[in-house]
Amino acid sequence: MTVTTRFAPSPTGYLHVGGARTALFSWLYARKHGGKFILRIEDTDLERSTQESVDAILDGMAWLSLNSDNERPFFQTEHFPRYKEIIAQLLADGHAYYCDCSKEELETLREQQMAAKEKPRYNGKCRDANKPQSDKTVVRFKTPLDGAITIPDLVKGEITVANKELDDLVIARADGSPTYNLTVVVDDMDMQITHVIRGDDHINNTPRQINILNALNAPLPQYAHLPMILGADGARLSKRHGAVSVMQFRDEGYLPEALLNYLVRLGWSHGDQEIFSIDEMIEYFDLADVNGAASTFNMEKLLWLNHHYLMHSDPARIVPHLVWHLGQLGIDAKQEEVDLIELVKAQRERCKTLVDMAAASVYFYHDFDGYEEKSAKKAFVEGSDNVLAKLEEAFSHVPTWEAEALHDIVKNVAAQLELGLGKVAQPLRVAICGSGVSPSIDVTLSLLGRDKTLARLQRAISHIQTLA
Ligand code: GLU
Repeated sequence: MTVTTRFAPSPTGYLHVGGARTALFSWLYARKHGGKFILRIEDTDLERSTQESVDAILDGMAWLSLNSDNERPFFQTEHFPRYKEIIAQLLADGHAYYCDCSKEELETLREQQMAAKEKPRYNGKCRDANKPQSDKTVVRFKTPLDGAITIPDLVKGEITVANKELDDLVIARADGSPTYNLTVVVDDMDMQITHVIRGDDHINNTPRQINILNALNAPLPQYAHLPMILGADGARLSKRHGAVSVMQFRDEGYLPEALLNYLVRLGWSHGDQEIFSIDEMIEYFDLADVNGAASTFNMEKLLWLNHHYLMHSDPARIVPHLVWHLGQLGIDAKQEEVDLIELVKAQRERCKTLVDMAAASVYFYHDFDGYEEKSAKKAFVEGSDNVLAKLEEAFSHVPTWEAEALHDIVKNVAAQLELGLGKVAQPLRVAICGSGVSPSIDVTLSLLGRDKTLARLQRAISHIQTLA
């Protein structure tokens, strides 16, 4: 049987990192077994589902390259006739019944149960009452009265729940629309899902879903419930801990491979290895190695991984991400203007994120407003205009604009003026970058190009002359 997994988000918010980890584990499991991975959008809650969230989920999955095997995303709202068919079947087979208990009646029951310190649950009043259908009736599933459901959970171990702990859940609302537990069961059955990998917030639903699957004589999938992700303070990870949506990590300058590597290690391990290529993840991943306890999100480690991937990835892979971030700063980065591969190579050592890298690269594209005060004060002193004028002269005549030749010019000017290299390089750096921080001066010059270099030297010379 083909291993088939699914990621089934409800489009009621952004794609949370917890959801992304669930998606990653499901995707890895399918890929490892040469199986199928399905993306299913659970949008039956019409009030809470939004197109914006659907887009955020699709964008997040695409950014992480967690490709699904369905040609286009599956939307539950497109399958109402199928859910109705199954509800009718369950009714016909005596596994479900109409219930006309009113809201008030159910509320009173709840209050009584709470007062008696009992677990609030439906008392089965309509179960054998043969109520006819009306516009006020919901459909309830007949949960078996005896016995128990045992879930051999692949992460949590065996979980057993007695059926008497469960009540007769609503599977269709009064307007005929199906509820969450029904749609999940129908889709998992129809899609022949072999492994349901999801957050452990769904553990309570699992025995109910198994009861419905049994009533439909459907084979049971295997279940793997993933523990939750906590913030550093031990509370469930949420917005107040910082970025939690996948797209926010993109916006904050993380590479998708760094986030994936970070997520795979949240609750899963393979010896003490920390860095995993996607191929290694696929090769080594196993649900048996997922830890049943909650894991804590550690931003520092993610940042460390991001820097690792910036340093060690093929620069050509980083370029499109850098271009996107430059675009966010209003820069249309074209290869003809600045060699992007060389730019990545020059910047990556000192940048932990792509946001840092883009910010540190602005001067290659746009003239800066003014000079950073401290560096300018140190670098632009009496005589610096002369140093810069000498450089300008030599740069305007150099036949090839290449790092080596440019380096020689800086060295020669220093020698000619009997100055240390720093006394030449530093005013030059501030003149062309606006501050005292840049990649090595020859690389910076070669990336910047002759025209911008000469114009900026001119500008600095005039500036220094106004100081005198
Ligand atoms: N739609 C559910 C959610 O977003 C997940 C359902 C499932 O994985 O079974 O929480």
